[in-house]
Amino acid sequence: MTYELMKAVGLLDAENVKVAPPREATLKDLLLFHNDEYIRLVKRMSEVGSGFLDMGDTPAFKGCYDASALAAGASLAAVDLVMSGKVTYGMNIAGGLHHAHPDRASGFCIFNDPAISIAYLKKNYGLERILYLDVDAHHGDGVMYGFYSDPAVLDIDFHEDGHHLFPGTGFTHEVGEGKAVGLKINVPLPPFTNDEIYLDLFREIVPRAVRKYRPQMLLLQCGADSHANDLLAHLQITTRTYREVVDVVRNLADELTGGRLVVFGGGGYNIANVARTWTLAACTLADYQPPKLTPVTWRKLFEALVGEKAPEKIETEREVRAELSGELVPANQAEILKDLKSRVPLLS
Ligand SMILES: [Zn+2]
Repeated sequence: MTYELMKAVGLLDAENVKVAPPREATLKDLLLFHNDEYIRLVKRMSEVGSGFLDMGDTPAFKGCYDASALAAGASLAAVDLVMSGKVTYGMNIAGGLHHAHPDRASGFCIFNDPAISIAYLKKNYGLERILYLDVDAHHGDGVMYGFYSDPAVLDIDFHEDGHHLFPGTGFTHEVGEGKAVGLKINVPLPPFTNDEIYLDLFREIVPRAVRKYRPQMLLLQCGADSHANDLLAHLQITTRTYREVVDVVRNLADELTGGRLVVFGGGGYNIANVARTWTLAACTLADYQPPKLTPVTWRKLFEALVGEKAPEKIETEREVRAELSGELVPANQAEILKDLKSRVPLLS
């Protein structure tokens, strides 16, 4: 539905936009992050076509190896296009599978394409400073712990507080180890955090830390499940925040690297919101002005395939859910910031 919406609003026909084919990640690519035994397990389960790849979250399906290798390879193709200077920014909406660990699947993620991309950038391009920014509602544990002691990765992760949501990690005291102490920044947010609070923290934290670190390449995991009314998570942001996140990161990429940025998708369980969030993210990257309303052709397709009424507006609005307002404990931005500043020198 995202691809169809991008097409329907005319983005894919814009002069400065190009759709590039993915490639399948090779065994050598996958081995940059995953171990051989796990890769062989995925291959075996892919032929069996049933059962689970972990303790019961991540189902195997027929062809899951090839599908996952293709999603990972699409991220590597985007990385190559950006690094070669053939394009300025890249986006892989099928990527962002940030929960997979070197030796196991987790949280619907089989191969961790952001982690593989980071290792690939280090090995093939010799990069020494990479930004990984993750705005999925879930903590990007596979990436963060995968590079927890690696100073080549500044990892900033905004997510719903692990006390309330899978995978239950990503607290402010987790700042990295060894040479990477202070290079892992976790921003846990309470349920129902809205645009204002989110953007306040984002503007305070991201530009400051990123400018001090001076990355050579920027990666943004843009999971759409931080959006209000997601079926799994409980943050309350709208496309307004996602547009600003992409805009800020794109400007930082321009300023610090001459425009090296790859955006990945990630989670997202409300189809109407996912399609709009990622379409608007891509429009922001391309400086493309989308129409205010969703095209009628897309609405018809949405209703036929999804079986729900299609949204009419492209931008989303927060629906205030009265039944939840009594439980709303807003984030204390000042407290979160003070806590982070006491632990992370890049923020001082
Ligand atoms: Zn998620």
